Amino acid sequence: MTTEKPREYCGLCGITGGDSVLEQVHLGIHSLQHRGQEAAGVMAVVGGVPCLHKAAGLVDETFSTIPPFWKRGEISRAIAHVRYSTAGSSSVTNAQPLMANVAGQLIGVAHNGTICNARTLRTELQDSGSIFQTTTDTELVLHLMARSLKRHNGDLWSALEEALGRLHGAYCLLLLTKDCLVAVRDPHGFRPLCIGDFDDGSYMVASETIAFNVTGANYLREVEPGEMIIWGPDNQMTSRRFAAPGPLAQCIFEHVYFARPGSYVFGDSVYEVRKALGRRLAQEAPVEADVVIPMPDSGLYAGLGYAEEAKIPFDLGLSRNHYVGRTFIDPGITSRRKLVMRKLQPIPEAIRGKRICLIEDSIVRGSTSRARIGTLREAGAKEIHMRVTCPPHRFGCYFGIDFPEREKLLANKVALQDLAQVLHLDSLVYLSQEGMLACVKAHPPEAYCCACFDGHYPVEPELMDAPPLDIAKSAL
Ligand code: SF4
Repeated sequence: MTTEKPREYCGLCGITGGDSVLEQVHLGIHSLQHRGQEAAGVMAVVGGVPCLHKAAGLVDETFSTIPPFWKRGEISRAIAHVRYSTAGSSSVTNAQPLMANVAGQLIGVAHNGTICNARTLRTELQDSGSIFQTTTDTELVLHLMARSLKRHNGDLWSALEEALGRLHGAYCLLLLTKDCLVAVRDPHGFRPLCIGDFDDGSYMVASETIAFNVTGANYLREVEPGEMIIWGPDNQMTSRRFAAPGPLAQCIFEHVYFARPGSYVFGDSVYEVRKALGRRLAQEAPVEADVVIPMPDSGLYAGLGYAEEAKIPFDLGLSRNHYVGRTFIDPGITSRRKLVMRKLQPIPEAIRGKRICLIEDSIVRGSTSRARIGTLREAGAKEIHMRVTCPPHRFGCYFGIDFPEREKLLANKVALQDLAQVLHLDSLVYLSQEGMLACVKAHPPEAYCCACFDGHYPVEPELMDAPPLDIAKSAL
């Protein structure tokens, strides 16, 4: 992984208006902590002046070190960000929001996703004199805007529209100036971004609707793919379309793994989709078992669905230590292995002598699954039958999820029929892609990206720095 092409998985929250902006944006971004645990940042307009604060670590740690003067000034609007990055690009310099002086105006930007042509754009900008402060693809937005400003007579948002026309890939953006909050979602709609409002006329925008639940905001709607929303000095909301929507490519893995079950994502309840995944899995891959045990936490609701459908008792045979972070999004493989062992403790009384149907959300490298299965065996499981709520992962993601290189994905290293043996399972069945897509209701199957399963990338290979098609072909 090079620092020229950092891949991030992030969460966004913004507030404009109201008399508790900082408190609300803190609550909102804290509810999105699962989307990034490596760094957090907040930019706020304090007493009419844009101010930035960011730090490595969790949201509460970052907010606890906000300079005291922020709390004495009136805060009119703010954006906040949580970040996960790959190794090599994880410095605090790359934490977001980024803030820059563009033609005499301080502008902040926070980003969720990955810009696929970032390396090409960066080279082009550097060749013509741009000096970058970070290695993140997000900084491109500010440079491209600055270049376009003159052509648009200093109109920031027209310059932004032009800049967006140069970007390919996945981007939800929040931008902040002294007077405006802006939300942008790419034309494919890879990542979720939703709008809420409060009874006092203030607005909130967030990656997931769970942020509205904790702050008391009312859910209004999603930011549409290809839409830019601007809240001006008077907090009035204006919509502009910078690109025609589509073809839609909403990330199905948000439903399978990433989003919180209390959220609505792409118009569907994550809770309902996860239960439906479990029910569908029970239909496609029944098993004779004494108990259904989910992998905490993302296998939990699919496990409930499976147990209901299969009429097998459900139990929580693995207890999670909630003081250990999410294993998939920890950047170092060494620390991930250690985390797996520290994170889940088997409960022998729920496991010993039983035929277990183990519900897992996905298998990526296999190291996490292998370690977990080992602990169940040690606790006395008689049989372990794993059922996975998505198809095998065989391809990389270029749209904001940090999967490892293709050759490190377990389903590419081991033939499907040998996977159960390699993982020390009595049986292993993945949910079909058709079955997975049948569990989302708000959009037809073709509105979702499934590239990490089937290798069909929604962005043309010639528009991506690392065209995945050759890789995909070699796997077929
Ligand atoms: S490749 Fe997979 S993880 Fe990436 S956006 Fe598509 S479905 Fe989501």
